[in-house]
Amino acid sequence: MTVHSPPCPLPLADTALPTEQREVEELLADAHAARRPVYPIGGGLALEFGLPPRAPGLGVRLTGLARVLDYPARDLTITVESGITLAALQQTLAAEGQWLPLEAHQPQAATLGGVLAVNFSGPRRFGYGTARDYVIGITAVDGRGKPFRGGGRVVKNVAGYDFCKLLVGSLGTLGIITQVTLKLRPRPEERALLLCEPADWDQAEKLLEGLVRSAVVPVSIDLLCGSAWTGAEELAPSNAQALLLGVGLEGSRQEVSWLVEELTSAWQAAGVPRFRTLDPAASLRAWELLTGFGCGRQAALVLKLNVRPSRLVSLMAMLRELAPDCSMAARAGSGILLVQFEEFQPSDISKLLIGRIRPAAIAAGGACVVWAAGPGLEATHQAVFGPDPGDRAMMRAVKSQFDPAGILNPGRYIYGVA
Ligand SMILES: Cc1cc2nc3c(=O)[nH]c(=O)nc-3n(C[C@H](O)[C@H](O)[C@H](O)COP(=O)(O)OP(=O)(O)OC[C@H]3O[C@@H](n4cnc5c(N)ncnc54)[C@H](O)[C@@H]3O)c2cc1C
Repeated sequence: MTVHSPPCPLPLADTALPTEQREVEELLADAHAARRPVYPIGGGLALEFGLPPRAPGLGVRLTGLARVLDYPARDLTITVESGITLAALQQTLAAEGQWLPLEAHQPQAATLGGVLAVNFSGPRRFGYGTARDYVIGITAVDGRGKPFRGGGRVVKNVAGYDFCKLLVGSLGTLGIITQVTLKLRPRPEERALLLCEPADWDQAEKLLEGLVRSAVVPVSIDLLCGSAWTGAEELAPSNAQALLLGVGLEGSRQEVSWLVEELTSAWQAAGVPRFRTLDPAASLRAWELLTGFGCGRQAALVLKLNVRPSRLVSLMAMLRELAPDCSMAARAGSGILLVQFEEFQPSDISKLLIGRIRPAAIAAGGACVVWAAGPGLEATHQAVFGPDPGDRAMMRAVKSQFDPAGILNPGRYIYGVA
């Protein structure tokens, strides 16, 4: 096992690079006995998500566990180790005309385990769902070094506890994921992204409503605004104040050309002033830009709000008034809104985040969490995750079953705070 110390935002005393699950079990059993914090690491791209941990500990980098274990392509399933990068996984699947409809920014570095632990999703979650829809089997090692499994290797398996759903989104606090069995999809033959600039919020709202009623079934619906988009290649709007609506379409060649025609005529009939269609290659680049919004360490603050889709446009309009300099990307069909601030003063945490934005998200039927905060912003637990919606005691009870000594990613997630 190689030991090295990469630069990263976690307080690592040293880092292990296991290449077998057995080594992960040994590392965790030793750490449990010594009550030593352990920080699982995939590609290391999303490590500032959650609260900054303070206790020095051992980094366990999973990139050495990256094998394809079983790929019965005719069953549309694959079993892989968790440290495989999303790009390597997609390349294997592409050889069989298949894919996993999950996105990550920098897929050549993002690992499957990291994507699942963060439950990261991109613009195409509207058409394809999220990681929980694709994990049908999972193996992990708990905070005592004991391996456990959930699900299986076939699509129909419902026995026992659903550890697949539990581990997705648990931020590496319940166990280190080592193996995953995934349900796959055939690769779409054709892709297109249609872009238009609604004249104002009212027209944006009407176009979104129109999509709900129309026969056009998109894979992504994104509403964008703000200066972050002005230099964004394929997605750049005509001016800094413009709104941009992007609708993604995928399917057979025939289906996509029909969908493009339908949507274009609907937008023409609605009097949309400006629209264009991106070809498949440009669509892929644009989806990458959409997936990467809010990622990277340059913004002062990025918030993630999830609200009822019907309340999204009015919420965006309200935020634009409140903070005219913010940039936004809404996965409009799913009610997810990412808000990026280039500047955010520490005093704005109570004034804007706690005082205005989070209550607005709650009033719109949802919640608001801090996705990423720049180095100058010392956000408290309450500021990052918000008030207890009533489920935290149960979550702490689950945590104590999987990690009784609290060594896995201590201090980063919602546990440990009454
Ligand atoms: C707030 C935020 C910021 C982001 N910033 C960036 C960015 O700057 N650049 C970029 O390209 N993408 C970024 N992303 C998107 C990123 O591509 C995906 O979120 C992807 O999940 C990162 O994969 P990773 O392998 O790098 O995970 P890592 O960052 O290495 O790990 C993410 C989390 O998962 C846990 N973890 C990792 N592997 C395992 C495992 N096998 N078992 C259990 N737990 C595990 C870690 O402990 C950590 O809590 C960001 C996402 C979020 C939510």
